[in-house]
Amino acid sequence: MRGPQVHPAAGLPPRVTIYEVGARDGLQNEKSVVPAQVKAQLIRRLAAAGLPAIETTSFVNPAWVPQLADAAEVLELLGPEGVGRDRPVLVPNIRGLDRALAAGCQAIAIFGSATETFAQRNLGRSIAESVEMFAPVVARARDAGLWVRAYVSMCFGDPWEGDVPVSQVVDASRRLMDLGCDQLSLGDTIGVATTGQVHALLDGLDTAGIGRELIAVHFHDTYGQALANTMAALRDGITVVDSSAGGLGGCPYAASATGNLATEDLVWALHGAGVETGVDLSALVETSAWLAAQLGRPSASRVVTALTGA
Ligand code: MG
Repeated sequence: MRGPQVHPAAGLPPRVTIYEVGARDGLQNEKSVVPAQVKAQLIRRLAAAGLPAIETTSFVNPAWVPQLADAAEVLELLGPEGVGRDRPVLVPNIRGLDRALAAGCQAIAIFGSATETFAQRNLGRSIAESVEMFAPVVARARDAGLWVRAYVSMCFGDPWEGDVPVSQVVDASRRLMDLGCDQLSLGDTIGVATTGQVHALLDGLDTAGIGRELIAVHFHDTYGQALANTMAALRDGITVVDSSAGGLGGCPYAASATGNLATEDLVWALHGAGVETGVDLSALVETSAWLAAQLGRPSASRVVTALTGA
């Protein structure tokens, strides 16, 4: 399978860590429910393709996210390789943490919001109340030696509130990081960000004491900006990027069906620019083509489409 011609590009880090969210963020937003066996196989194949960090599933209430109601079963199928520090699971509250600990998980992710409207819609709480809910979760997770990531949604725009001021994102981020989280993932949940805005937010966070080394970026491609924003963030000192194999996952809050930045598209751009990822692009493309067949629809990744003639 062909790869990009390599021309090292100035201003990029030598190596980028891809945090693969397809099995969780991707599948939770797919219409069809994928069998646990297929999910486990997807995670195994992603690991075999060299993805260094893979978010496996979610311990939210199955009534909210029926697509991932089989979280414990998927981890059971995976065994020890499904629960290391590089295999986080999403956890909303203490009950979710209990389930994650019972499954042997060593890493979790919590999910906050930069806007009050989304906090109410997604968590049924204000931002302040959701931080109160997360505080004992993070405290107990840390006591148990777990790695903890904090997502912040709607960092660059909100479907109900419109523009989101940088200061508001910084404040929500600061509150989550003050709980003791190890990493902050900045979510452009509706995919509206542009490159100058990315820089402005990273600067604002840096001023508030949240340096680039603590931050991951999580862009959606609704307006076709995900890869451009990611490259801008990398030129600005970020080295951890969230993406989804095959571009899995839509966003229920955005008008378009376009989902996360596709991992293949990211890998193509990075390898072409001489940036190491440790990912075997061919193995990844084959995995996404296989999953697209399972889902009964073509992959949203441009690279998968180009390389498989799908
Ligand atoms: Mg996403």
